[in-house]
Amino acid sequence: MSDMGLVVVGAAGRMGRTLIRIVAESEGVRLVGAIEREGAAELGQDAGTLAGLPPLGVAVSDDPLTVFARAEGVLDFTVPAATVGFAEIAAQARIVHVIGTTGLSADQEAAIDAAARHAVVVKSGNMSLGVNLLAGLVRQAARALDADFDIEILEMHHRHKIDAPSGTALLLGQAAAEGREITLADHSVRVRDGHTGARPRGTIGFATLRGGSVAGDHSVLFAGEGETITLSHHASDRAIFARGAVKAARWAAGRKPGRYSMADVLGLA
Ligand code: NAP
Repeated sequence: MSDMGLVVVGAAGRMGRTLIRIVAESEGVRLVGAIEREGAAELGQDAGTLAGLPPLGVAVSDDPLTVFARAEGVLDFTVPAATVGFAEIAAQARIVHVIGTTGLSADQEAAIDAAARHAVVVKSGNMSLGVNLLAGLVRQAARALDADFDIEILEMHHRHKIDAPSGTALLLGQAAAEGREITLADHSVRVRDGHTGARPRGTIGFATLRGGSVAGDHSVLFAGEGETITLSHHASDRAIFARGAVKAARWAAGRKPGRYSMADVLGLA
């Protein structure tokens, strides 16, 4: 069987460069395209050079229509508006779309659902094995502990991150809500400031830290009377997300159109 041809979009970004490196070193896949937005300084550069590797013979382009036509999958860690556009083009080309982008609005999520009627989409707020395993443990703990235990989710990321709470924090909040059989949207407390009053029972709180170069730290606390349980994950290298994305693309090849999660890919769903 020949290697799966993959395109990295947002090629010059933190994740884009990491994805190019991981695709180049992974078995069963090869880089066939690298996309950046119109006017980007990196257009025309070799994707390998951009990622700190020897040249790969793939020039960075701003023409996804042409590049997707010769690929079997797209790895997309960009920004929500760009991801919605790429989803349409990937659906037209009937190729796999792996989405790591976070911070999509409800309308943007609906556009991804529409694209998933024609193409295989794997989307997750976190592509690492560790966080998806953690989500399972959080679901289990939330099921076992009643609302006498307050659930708080704490996350820290590098200073350049543009959305909050992180996609991973929301994924963990969703797991906790599922364990408790409640709806996250109706029970989450995303911000606290000033005279907030006492903590409402049964809510799931979020706290966000930003600074330095932190790739992603997440803790879920179950705080009861006299004891606290903390489940946490520390990402020390972005390569874990990129390896997860490549694994997702290979898993998705040849599947029926639809929207899948990383838990499906890892067999944890
Ligand atoms: P980043 O360094 O800002 O990279 C985003 C890249 O996308 C930039 O190079 C940006 O170019 C490019 N881009 C923006 N609009 C584009 C367009 N229309 N066409 C092509 N490229 C475009 O950010 P990052 O740290 O890599 O993170 C990217 C996303 O992945 C974020 O949403 C982050 O939360 C998410 N993420 C997810 C996971 C996961 O496991 N799911 C893990 C890590 C990060 P310009 O800078 O020139 O605009």
